[in-house]
Amino acid sequence: MIQHKDLDDPQTREVTIIGGGIAGLSAAIYLGRAQRDTLVIDSGHSMAKWEPIVENYLGFPNGVGGEELLKNGCRQARRHNVRFAHDEIRTVSSKKSGFVLKGKNKTYRAKRLLLATGIFHLPPEIPGVTECLGHSMFFCKDCDGFRVRGKRIAIIGVNNEAVEYALGMLHYSACVIVATNGKQPRWHKRHARWLAEYEIPVERNRIINVDHRKRKIHALDFAGGTCVKINYIFTTRGDIFHTGLAEKLGAKLDAHGQIKVDQCMRTSVPGLYAAGCVTPANCQMIIAAGQGAAAAQAINRDLFDESLATHSLRRFRDAQLADEKTVPERVSNISWRKEKRNNGI
Ligand SMILES: Cc1cc2nc3c(=O)[nH]c(=O)nc-3n(C[C@H](O)[C@H](O)[C@H](O)COP(=O)(O)OP(=O)(O)OC[C@H]3O[C@@H](n4cnc5c(N)ncnc54)[C@H](O)[C@@H]3O)c2cc1C
Repeated sequence: MIQHKDLDDPQTREVTIIGGGIAGLSAAIYLGRAQRDTLVIDSGHSMAKWEPIVENYLGFPNGVGGEELLKNGCRQARRHNVRFAHDEIRTVSSKKSGFVLKGKNKTYRAKRLLLATGIFHLPPEIPGVTECLGHSMFFCKDCDGFRVRGKRIAIIGVNNEAVEYALGMLHYSACVIVATNGKQPRWHKRHARWLAEYEIPVERNRIINVDHRKRKIHALDFAGGTCVKINYIFTTRGDIFHTGLAEKLGAKLDAHGQIKVDQCMRTSVPGLYAAGCVTPANCQMIIAAGQGAAAAQAINRDLFDESLATHSLRRFRDAQLADEKTVPERVSNISWRKEKRNNGI
């Protein structure tokens, strides 16, 4: 069967996706199934790998490992002929014909580009707790609040978000403290009043040690000699948005530094789309997957519209007419019934 790519410049992909995390893989599955020549370039640092059991993704009543979700997504995309390259794109430029991407290993060309590069949650500035990430140290109440019900929880932070986190966590546990880790609080007066009103203890000393074994936190040791028994910590230090490539292409960012997109995930740059945590969406897997799907549908639709405008669909049709059977066979009713009987249909 002839495909679009058979008539295109073999060096230029119809679609390239930078980022093979949840949003990128979801888009890849849709684009592969839409018969689009699609390449996913990924450097392998999806945040989904940090979650050992995802409990809020539709269709997995007993949870699913973040890593497993990625592996399955990758397999699903490969089944639909999506190609993958392990590389890190360092710079990108736009040309009339599309985009040129320079990676650590290779240069790539694409007519349409989807950025699904995600973000990086900054871990707290406490040494030696990285191994607790996703096990007893978390970033996201919506992801992990449910699993810490009834436990002793410390919110580490100094901003309004830390206070709001602590208040929000009261739905999950009565035992919640805020730890500023020796920093000066930056929360507003109103937030300070809430802490007092809701009787949430605030530990202002520096955390000098996190007592943890087998990825489970047991206590926080504070400068001054206090030890507070804690099971889980949440941190609100902030995020780094992987938007360097978008900025290089001139895409507009919002006040938080996230890539601005319309409902179809189009950025302000023609031919450039973005999906997942790098956009203003709430950073959740199911939302990233949905955005990836929406971006893929828009890309497919835009390529189709372009093929009508440039008559490339007509050239594609010419190739079909020259090479393939394009008119269904006509037979009489009687011989069709006979054929069906003979074939046991
Ligand atoms: C500890 C933890 C627990 C979480 N738990 C949950 C949960 O329970 N439920 C939930 O819904 N969400 C959870 N999340 C959030 C979830 O991981 C994200 O919502 C999801 O991974 C976002 O998908 P994404 O595709 O936008 O980004 P990612 O999945 O992070 O993928 C981005 C990809 O882009 C690649 N990339 C970036 N820049 C480049 C480049 N220049 N070149 C090539 N590749 C590049 C990265 O290597 C990465 O593979 C959790 C996050 C963390 C950190």
